[in-house]
Amino acid sequence: MTRGSSDFDRTLAFSDAAIQRLRVHRHAAYPRNYELWYTYATGYNSALNRAINEALEHGPGISESDLDLLYETYLSPLRLSERVDHVGTRIIEEIGEVNDALKSARGANSDYAKALESVMREAQSVDGAGGVVLGRLGELLLSATHAMINRTKALEERLSGSQNEMRKLHDTLEVIRAESLTDPLTGLANRKFLQGALDRALLDAESQADRQARFSVLLIDIDRFKTFNDSYGHLTGDQVLRLVALALKQNVKGQDLAARFGGEEFAIVLPDTGLQGAIAVAERIRRAVMTKDLVKRSTGEHLGRVTVSVGVAEWRRGDTGQTVIDRADRCMYVAKRSGRNLVIAETDPLFSEIDGAGEDAAAPQATFASASR
Ligand code: GH3
Ligand code: MG
Ligand code: MG
Repeated sequence: MTRGSSDFDRTLAFSDAAIQRLRVHRHAAYPRNYELWYTYATGYNSALNRAINEALEHGPGISESDLDLLYETYLSPLRLSERVDHVGTRIIEEIGEVNDALKSARGANSDYAKALESVMREAQSVDGAGGVVLGRLGELLLSATHAMINRTKALEERLSGSQNEMRKLHDTLEVIRAESLTDPLTGLANRKFLQGALDRALLDAESQADRQARFSVLLIDIDRFKTFNDSYGHLTGDQVLRLVALALKQNVKGQDLAARFGGEEFAIVLPDTGLQGAIAVAERIRRAVMTKDLVKRSTGEHLGRVTVSVGVAEWRRGDTGQTVIDRADRCMYVAKRSGRNLVIAETDPLFSEIDGAGEDAAAPQATFASASR
């Protein structure tokens, strides 16, 4: 079977499955809804499929507004950045190929000019009118060839210029994409980036059959930050957020990802790290923050110190990104209730004591969908 017909059969099967889904869920067959179900049928976007499967398993069904959210979360950012990458790279390559073709045409023209020159030299040795005609013909051909060589060279230069412009545009788009994943105040990854890192860590861990597959998550919240803001002002508060972000950056390494989760909360994904390793990182961060002496830049005024409470959870088989975050969040809440400036992991006796103590102790949930509390 040719590639064309196998593509035809395969894509038609995806299309049938997508239309079937639109029917079952009574979703309008708009291109966007169709694209979502088509992508689901292909299974290429595992994060999207997981989110849909979870919604189908636990929820009342998928509404059109759920589709909006799914599309925004799993398809539109991906599409934009993938397309930008793909189109940009293809155009640069295309210009490069045209330029190479022009260069080799210029080389062929130069060879042709050399051949003409040697013909003309031979023509000089031909006597009489025949020699004059041959010489004149040779001159005409040679000057046309040189004109062609010059035009090709000018075209090559213009194309090289375009290629440089394209490269610059491509770099600018890279910067824009990086900015869209960065928290502007602290320079840390933002929540969208965190979600991507969490999805990748999850895929990695799930794809490894052995029991060694692991990753952990820290949730870090500044203690009594409202009071700090109220006392010293929001701008000074912002400086403290930057300082805490710096402490995070300085205490993670390699593939670890530190992100601003929202407000005065941060999260760190630690791939290939078990609970004990994660607790050690959390402790390092807690100490790094509490030992910083805060001084107001403009006045030199000493502002005391701030502390953080940290919750630590390790991925377990069957977890989603959200359930690991939830456990880390509950641990962080226990740290708050136990006096703050503490690291609490899910194995900590305080965790089972307080977290298991019922409704009163239940932590408000940190979700990707809602803003920070
Ligand atoms: P807790 O120890 O229980 O976490 O107390 P808290 O005061 O830190 O917590 P709460 O949630 O009551 O208040 C969080 C405060 O964080 C509210 C707001 O003043 C401050 N905050 C959130 N985002 C920003 C920001 O971008 N800049 C500044 N300066 N402050 C922020
Ligand atoms: Mg908070
Ligand atoms: Mg706080």
